[in-house]
Amino acid sequence: MISVSGATRVTGVIGDPVTHSLSPALHNAAFAALGIDWVSVPFPVSAGRGAQAVEAMRTVGLAGLSVTTPHKDAVAQAADEVSDAVAALGAANCLVASADGRVRAENTDGDGFLGALLEDADTTVQEKTVAVLGAGGAARAISRACADAGAAGVLIVNRTAQRAEVCAGLAGSVGTVARHADIAGADIVVNATTVGMAPDSAMPCDPALLHRGQIVVDIVYNPSETVWLAAARAAGIRSYNGGSMLVHQAAVAIAHWTGRTAPVDAMRSALRAHLS
Ligand code: NAP
Repeated sequence: MISVSGATRVTGVIGDPVTHSLSPALHNAAFAALGIDWVSVPFPVSAGRGAQAVEAMRTVGLAGLSVTTPHKDAVAQAADEVSDAVAALGAANCLVASADGRVRAENTDGDGFLGALLEDADTTVQEKTVAVLGAGGAARAISRACADAGAAGVLIVNRTAQRAEVCAGLAGSVGTVARHADIAGADIVVNATTVGMAPDSAMPCDPALLHRGQIVVDIVYNPSETVWLAAARAAGIRSYNGGSMLVHQAAVAIAHWTGRTAPVDAMRSALRAHLS
């Protein structure tokens, strides 16, 4: 049982809807493992009220907020300061209060993806070609982070061509708009679309385009194994789901808020407990 006093530092997650969010469970597991008097709670904030949530954060003295759909763009605009990633992406998933009451916006998805890849597959994207399926918020953060981390190529495969162009642009000189047929040439293939997310059982690309020389990551974490990921695994391909990225992007938020290294193992156990 979490005990709350006047000294407890309060964080949370805002979204619409937010009741399904696993973030409070991950944050509270981290605070408990660190032995610090902090708590995280879900705050339902209606669409269109993201900027007011930033103001409320200043008013009531929240230490930090995670931010989910549909507020990621609005909070980036309402914050006092933004990180380089937020400036490039125009979207934030983490707000950090500083001692003087100012609010800084961060985007932890890119670092979360790279941290998960390192932990799960013991690899980096350096000198690798990464095919990113999708061009939404997560795909943009991942594409930019891969380019920054030294990927040799970032291939964007997306249903809507204009969004693919924008996403490829975020990867700078290594970003290219690509076709499904190009997926076979990538070292790492990432599903960053919503395709396959429960209750959908569709696949983001034909698994016949995947092969054993690749690493396949589906950043969807519910279900824990999408039909696409199962097909990759059945073909003997190293494949990983989005649970690890979820933990690592939250771990980066914990580090921003507390200044401490996040206890990733405790957070991973909390995720397992909540998904089982
Ligand atoms: P988003 O901004 O809404 O983007 C959705 C993307 O999926 C777009 O590129 C969209 O293509 C594509 N898409 C949707 N339906 C499609 C279909 N039927 N066929 C082909 N493409 C389709 O979503 P997001 O915030 O980036 O999130 C994407 C996924 O990542 C979600 O499942 C989310 O839960 C997951 N995620 C996981 C983590 C993690 O930590 N593991 C973090 C963030 C997000 P168009 O551009 O053509 O519309």
